[in-house]
Amino acid sequence: MDRLTAGPLVDETGQTSIPGIYACGNVLHVYDIVDQLSKEAKSVGQAAAAYIANGQSQLPLLRVQAGAGIKYVVPQQISAHGKRLLSFRVTTPGRNKYIIVKSGRKTIKQQIKQRVNPPELIQLEVNLPPLLAGNTIKVEIR
Ligand SMILES: Cc1cc2nc3c(=O)[nH]c(=O)nc-3n(C[C@H](O)[C@H](O)[C@H](O)COP(=O)(O)OP(=O)(O)OC[C@H]3O[C@@H](n4cnc5c(N)ncnc54)[C@H](O)[C@@H]3O)c2cc1C
Repeated sequence: MDRLTAGPLVDETGQTSIPGIYACGNVLHVYDIVDQLSKEAKSVGQAAAAYIANGQSQLPLLRVQAGAGIKYVVPQQISAHGKRLLSFRVTTPGRNKYIIVKSGRKTIKQQIKQRVNPPELIQLEVNLPPLLAGNTIKVEIR
């Protein structure tokens, strides 16, 4: 379990630390609008169906951490490189803030947001390269 979300730890397919057990929706973390979660829930359902068909899943490769100014990030683990959607909340309101996704000292993505607010879920797509320092990425806000 993730003590910050009070939900299970999942990878980008929604798989929990128990192989074959998947989670999506508000049981993972609270979504603001149902549209955000129904899109993700569809892909989690497809991953669960693939698990049933193939009986195997990938092991997590990367850890995803909440850095400065970020309350939590979902998924907390990622099992494959490529385009991934990160969902997170900030800890405090702010204006003209940079959302930064880093691995070690390397910046993977940086995006400015005119307004950030803890009640508003932020979703950001990142393209993760194969080699990342310490197999960890961190989301922070400055
Ligand atoms: C007051 C309020 C207003 C909202 N307004 C909007 C809006 O206008 N537009 C919008 O897009 N989103 C809105 N949302 C958000 C939206 O409702 C949620 O994002 C969405 O419903 C979450 O879907 P879910 O399937 O993950 O969880 P839920 O819809 O909560 O479904 C979980 C289901 O699991 C059942 N359950 C729980 N525990 C168990 C158990 N142990 N065994 C069996 N069943 C169980 C529950 O009874 C429930 O039916 C609002 C939310 C709230 C609280």
